[in-house]
Amino acid sequence: MFRSALLKLTSFYFILLLTVCISLSVPAYLISSDRINRGSSNQLRVLNEFARGPLAFPDREMPPTFDPRAILKEQVEKQRNDDRRELLRGLILVNFFVLAGGTILCFYFAKRTLTPIEKLHEAQANFTSHASHELRTPLSVMKAEIEVALRQQASKEKLRDVLKSNLEEIERLTDLSDQLLALTLLENRENTKELFSLSELVTKDIENFEKQNKIKIDTDINPEVSIEGIPTLISDYLRILLNNAMQYIANKPAIIKVSLNQLGDSKAKLSVRDNGIGISKDDINKIFTRFYRVNQASTHHGSGHGLGLSLASEIAKIHGTRIEVDSELGLYTEFSIVLNQK
Ligand code: ADP
Repeated sequence: MFRSALLKLTSFYFILLLTVCISLSVPAYLISSDRINRGSSNQLRVLNEFARGPLAFPDREMPPTFDPRAILKEQVEKQRNDDRRELLRGLILVNFFVLAGGTILCFYFAKRTLTPIEKLHEAQANFTSHASHELRTPLSVMKAEIEVALRQQASKEKLRDVLKSNLEEIERLTDLSDQLLALTLLENRENTKELFSLSELVTKDIENFEKQNKIKIDTDINPEVSIEGIPTLISDYLRILLNNAMQYIANKPAIIKVSLNQLGDSKAKLSVRDNGIGISKDDINKIFTRFYRVNQASTHHGSGHGLGLSLASEIAKIHGTRIEVDSELGLYTEFSIVLNQK
């Protein structure tokens, strides 16, 4: 598909180039050949002016048919035709090289134009295939469970288990569709920022999170930090990181800490640190890729879809920053962003 688009775009650029060459060469040829014509007409006029009367060599006998003016006129015309041919040959040669070089450039520019579109298309296709896979898995589980229950004339108890398990899968699906929707909205939303106290927002969000999840979070929050941003998105960002910190916490008491500190006068750093399973150096670069989950087969932490950090990193991007990760396998993970203070 992209090969044919590449050929079409190259041909389009080539036709543009050809049109430019023709529209420059034709007038160039007409103007130059007009000059050549005028030059040779001048030569002929001068000849006629200066060579009035019989042109002859008094000391030599000339044949009666000998007409030196006719010979000179013929010479001038021959020169004029030669000049025009030379001009035409030159223009053809120049155009040939311009078109040959231009074709290579046309191909190069067409490729440059199409490569980002191709990558976007590939990413879109990958995204769709991953999303369908994520949607299919819980649906298949639900279908299989219901089929078995129906076939075996299951007891009330068994049916209750099936319904419970189906409810969990439905929750997973709802979660997935929420995250997919959030990603799409993030990509297409108008981002109107406002000035707000990040310190207050973070403090309030942590309190709510503690209540909802019955967990204690350590804090080190500078109360003076205000930024220009989108408060709802910052809350989403914090919730994603806190959820992850809770999920990827090996079998030990969780120690989760949120810090908000000023860096100089104009910047503030927001960090979420946990004492969980950690992330290997190899995986750190991949965890922001959509649907990527570390070592899915061997670890059973969490029930996510690998979209949380993609969302978080989009939110960071909207705020003109990027997420930094510091982690040691089996020891800790810390996600930080540096924001511009107002
Ligand atoms: P998920 O829905 O799987 O949590 P995320 O995009 O939030 O998706 O995270 C991607 C992967 O990064 C996770 O599957 C997990 O392996 C790893 N990860 C994220 N946060 C942490 C953390 N705090 N500690 C260890 N691993 C983490």
